[in-house]
Amino acid sequence: MSQQPKHIAVAGATGAVGIEILKCLEQRDFPVSELTLLASARSAGKTLTFRGKEVTVKELTPDSFEGVDIALFSAGGGISKTFAPHAVKAGAIVVDNSSAFRMDEGVPLIIPEVNPSDASENNGIIANPNCTTIVTLMALNPMHQTFGGVKSIIASSYQAVSGSGAQGISELESQVEAIAKGEPLPERKVYPRQIAFNVIPQVDVFQENGYTKEEMKMHFEGQKILHAPELKASVTCVRVPVFRSHAVAVTAVFHDEPSVEAAREAIADAKGVQVVDDPFADPPEFPTPLDCTNGDDCLVGRIRKDLVLDNALTFWVVGDQVRKGAALNAVQIAELL
Ligand code: NAP
Repeated sequence: MSQQPKHIAVAGATGAVGIEILKCLEQRDFPVSELTLLASARSAGKTLTFRGKEVTVKELTPDSFEGVDIALFSAGGGISKTFAPHAVKAGAIVVDNSSAFRMDEGVPLIIPEVNPSDASENNGIIANPNCTTIVTLMALNPMHQTFGGVKSIIASSYQAVSGSGAQGISELESQVEAIAKGEPLPERKVYPRQIAFNVIPQVDVFQENGYTKEEMKMHFEGQKILHAPELKASVTCVRVPVFRSHAVAVTAVFHDEPSVEAAREAIADAKGVQVVDDPFADPPEFPTPLDCTNGDDCLVGRIRKDLVLDNALTFWVVGDQVRKGAALNAVQIAELL
């Protein structure tokens, strides 16, 4: 990459997404002139390794952003709301992984493979979409482009515990360990029910319409990203005892009649997404969360004509949500800048 090196700040550097951001910056050879790592006071003084050197984590404060060109935020919505304006005031462009600004007017919501040109009109903040939405749209967009636009989506997600950050991972680990040793379960801190050997149909808070906030994100963020204000999405988000990578089973209705062959071709031609779909191979080919973990691409399989709805295809997509659903997507946005 030949651009002028940038002073990068990572707010939330010690978290699941922050650590992955550092990996993505390294692996993609992002031109970094200076790196500022920020987290809570609890982590101040810890060190993280970047390009073989130890970098000391500092406490995030309003004054953390002097001289910063790009600030990648992954410390939760409240922290973004409080500190992103300070970063913008100091002259940085903020790429935010939280939901704090996603639906705000003047804040582009970007998946670089889908709507990169939206990024140029910004007021200093660019938002990274919800992770389940990113994984779904990576598969859906090539079909949306091919079959006259998507009209509606019905989807169920199978979301990994790393979607709840470092605490979600340790809750599953500690429950599995306790069960394996025949000990009582440790006190739950993250999930409303036992997550080990169970699935939980509630990923975040319920809204008045009976859907969760997470489920409505696909509806609203999908409209904004695809420039499809009439798109409707009915989604059931489920937390599953998988450490990493989200899976989504999707039925999408298009304006034009779709075909499985054309869908496979469109996905195969698109960037950042691959077809893994041969039900008649021995053994049958389809992607699972383990197949995409630590990888950049989302993987799509089980593509078939829907038997109930007209003009509809049903498919299955998996993607590493810490990476493409957050860190990688944010670094790709920084690359666009
Ligand atoms: P996490 O593992 O819990 O990490 C949270 C990070 O925020 C840590 O670095 C933490 O620092 C920092 N932090 C917490 N309170 C802070 C404070 N008061 N001041 C400064 N820093 C503070 O969470 P995560 O999974 O990385 O998620 C981070 C953000 O990314 C969230 O908004 C989440 O919704 C979004 N996101 C996550 C995923 C995913 O798959 N995990 C996907 C898409 C988007 P300490 O270590 O010092 O506590």
